[in-house]
Amino acid sequence: MKKILITGGAGFIGTHLCKKLLSENNIVMCLDNFFTGRHKNIEQFIQNPNFRLIEHDIINPIDIEVDEIYNLACPASPPHYQYDPIKTMQTSVLGIINMLELAKKYKAKILQASTSEVYGDPLIHPQVESYWGNVNPIGIRSCYDEGKRCAETLIMDYHRTEGLDTKIVRIFNTYGPYMTPDDGRVVSNFILQALKNEDITIYGKGTQTRSFCYVDDLVDGLIKMMESDLTGPVNLGNPSERTILEFAELIIQITNSKSKIIYTQLPKDDPAKRQPDISIAKKYLNWEPKIDIYKGLDNTIEYFTHLLKDEM
Ligand code: NAD
Ligand code: UDP
Repeated sequence: MKKILITGGAGFIGTHLCKKLLSENNIVMCLDNFFTGRHKNIEQFIQNPNFRLIEHDIINPIDIEVDEIYNLACPASPPHYQYDPIKTMQTSVLGIINMLELAKKYKAKILQASTSEVYGDPLIHPQVESYWGNVNPIGIRSCYDEGKRCAETLIMDYHRTEGLDTKIVRIFNTYGPYMTPDDGRVVSNFILQALKNEDITIYGKGTQTRSFCYVDDLVDGLIKMMESDLTGPVNLGNPSERTILEFAELIIQITNSKSKIIYTQLPKDDPAKRQPDISIAKKYLNWEPKIDIYKGLDNTIEYFTHLLKDEM
């Protein structure tokens, strides 16, 4: 059995990854400091003898025997990563150094959950991995964007100088069950607003675009990447792009909501468009998303409907 460490394992994507890797008969060690992760997400695994929970902060070193590391620890929603920007940067930079040192000690493979944010407000469209990006180094998103870029640099330097088996994936907007209801991201905000018949808050004019990938597809891509010979970076995301206004209208339609759309201020440095070019993932990982937006949103809306009922 492989011993797999998932940092950020109690978060949104981490919970799905724990579930999938446990179902494939691995020993899964979920490391988390519970900043944005939730005990509720991982309660379902506690009785599983192949599951271990490690409450730890990756800015501090740790020594555990591992075969593979998925480094997901980092708050991902803008309000969460901007809450303590210095800590966000430490998590990306000190965190990856600690994980790379661990990988070096045990000759483990290591995969980094990087992000489409490394492209910043992109000047080429769709975004290909060879694009170096258009990132503000001193803005309110920089703690996240530059932290993730620095982590990519460290990974490639450990790969070149220490011969580590490293993998970088650049994840584009992903959604699904186990998203934190109050995390401020567009999918959770719009669905909860629609279910409560509250105003749907579009930031700016809603002309900015995003491309939404269902979490099961993403998790398949992460595992394929870990099992491949690739170093990356490789984009993982769903190329089906829509404006935020179209997305709001879609949520209202699917939930049959009485919500009205309102327009509020666009946050600074909010990227105008985002769509992954996934040619590399298709060609070398034989991966592409399979779950369409209707099916993915149905599952997600069902999840949030249950959460709301539990609250009442
Ligand atoms: P999330 O906030 O739900 O999960 C992050 C997890 O990391 C949480 O459980 C949190 O408690 C934990 N964590 C944060 N700082 C930590 C620290 N210092 N030590 C230990 N644990 C810590 O976010 P998510 O959406 O599941 O994202 C997971 C990863 O994927 C992140 O690295 C994120 O940057 C990346 N990513 C996600 C998306 C997306 O659309 N969800 C897009 C691009 C990249
Ligand atoms: N957004 C919005 N209303 C919300 C939350 C987000 O219009 O209630 C917009 C946000 O400005 C951005 C897009 O939706 O343009 C995606 O935001 P999110 O925070 O989910 O992720 P990002 O891709 O910006 O990291």
